[in-house]
Amino acid sequence: MQLPAWQTALAEAFNDPQSLFSYLQLSPESHPDGQLAQRQFSLKVPRYYADLMGKGDPDDPLLRQVLPCREEMIDTPGFIADPVGDLQAKQQAGLLHKYQGRVLILTTGACGVHCRYCFRRHYPYQNGTATPGQWQSILDTIRSQTSIREVILSGGDPLMINDQRLAKMVGELQALTQLKRLRLHSRLPVVLPQRITPELLELLSNSRLQSVMVLHANHPKELSPALAAACEKMRSAGITLLNQSVLLKGVNDDAETLIRLSEGLFEIGVMPYYLHLLDRVSGAGHFEVEPHRIEPLKQQLLHQLPGYLVPRMVREIAGEASKTPV
Ligand SMILES: *Cc1c(COP(=O)(O)O)cnc(C)c1O
Ligand code: SF4
Repeated sequence: MQLPAWQTALAEAFNDPQSLFSYLQLSPESHPDGQLAQRQFSLKVPRYYADLMGKGDPDDPLLRQVLPCREEMIDTPGFIADPVGDLQAKQQAGLLHKYQGRVLILTTGACGVHCRYCFRRHYPYQNGTATPGQWQSILDTIRSQTSIREVILSGGDPLMINDQRLAKMVGELQALTQLKRLRLHSRLPVVLPQRITPELLELLSNSRLQSVMVLHANHPKELSPALAAACEKMRSAGITLLNQSVLLKGVNDDAETLIRLSEGLFEIGVMPYYLHLLDRVSGAGHFEVEPHRIEPLKQQLLHQLPGYLVPRMVREIAGEASKTPV
């Protein structure tokens, strides 16, 4: 059986720093000592995403998001393995129910790209994601809790799952009569827009549930013509498009970049939703923006953007009933 083109592209993604360096015409000396970090959480970058990076630019903001580096091996006080309390919130394998009215399903541990700042980099996916056997009991749990109106497919990245399996999942979810909305949290449209297949669009637009796709773009350079085309198709299919970003030092920690990101998103039909402060996960300390710079940044966004393009700046605090506004 022939694989869909997006799966072939993922199979051919860069998975070691050396080949990415030579593709980007960078000398390995520009980023020494990334090997230990690479062993802990390997590099993974689709060629499409690498093509958005500047050739020969060791400080490219997209490269910085994905390249293993020695700073990851530094222990920063307060940075821990599970900063958002996912293990504590885990109600059953594969299901997170932290907030009222919505549940989050960990559909898979796989992603299309490995983001160095990710709070799930230490998550024990082996026993944390929904296997087909656990799927049935997740459906039972949702059915028994009638206050749940929305299911969020997350991971990992739910669009790593193929369209046939997704269609089956969506079919089973929409049979739960209390559900109104289906949300997908995915970075794949940004790192591999060809993942937005006709089959995916069809399965979402045919569903009784209202679909919401929450993209994850952090920098205006990620907003390519290919992504714009994918967003256009999703909007035509009736999917509401939102974006969440993470505030990252050396990537998007200046007002000018964040403003271009919000405006660029709106141009392709995506509403800025959240700007997350970094989850304090061990190995990501070098991405944290100094606390005293946060309020001025927020003020600049408020002053320079129309209100509807200002993302909600939030932090996730373990045990809280929602994301916490900053
Ligand atoms: C972030 C998150 C949600 C979604 O929160 P919204 O504010 O509705 O976007 C839901 N469940 C879990 C476990 C989350 O971490
Ligand atoms: S879960 Fe999202 S942020 Fe984390 S590595 Fe996967 S794509 Fe990146």
